[in-house]
Amino acid sequence: MCGIVGVVAQREVSEILLEGLRRLEYRGYDSAGIAMLNHDGKLQRTRRQGKVSELSDACRETPPVGRSGIAHTRWATHGEPSELNAHPHVSGGIAVVHNGIIENHESLRENLTKEGYVFESATDTEVIAHLLHHELKTASSLRDAMGRLLDQLEGAYARCGH
Ligand code: GLU
Repeated sequence: MCGIVGVVAQREVSEILLEGLRRLEYRGYDSAGIAMLNHDGKLQRTRRQGKVSELSDACRETPPVGRSGIAHTRWATHGEPSELNAHPHVSGGIAVVHNGIIENHESLRENLTKEGYVFESATDTEVIAHLLHHELKTASSLRDAMGRLLDQLEGAYARCGH
């Protein structure tokens, strides 16, 4: 049972995201990560295998900046516990965290690979990031792309995108 935190605010949010993860630690997890939209519009992602305290240490060394972000504690179901498999997963300017399982991830991964997407993790989650990126190329809005995305996902899941 992992955890998801999302924050949009009028001040820096990295500490709020990390505190949110600390409060969810009791649920159990194997890795943790954070992605924030910087003031220049770029995504900044930090992930660590292990404890939220290790993620906090990494964020102290290279502080993430921005007023919106998402954060995640992972309990691996697809792909070993590792930094590479830790969430958020990204595709272009999109970052995604996800709880649950995408049951049809193999066929989606196959189709997206044919479209030229390169997968860097062994998770089922990464298909969500690439599929949303793919749908956004032709969708009229993010809402439209999300609708198309959800039509294609099978399984039990909760997710949060940025
Ligand atoms: N199935 C996803 C993974 O293995 C999400 C697991 C979770 O709910 O933390 O990365």
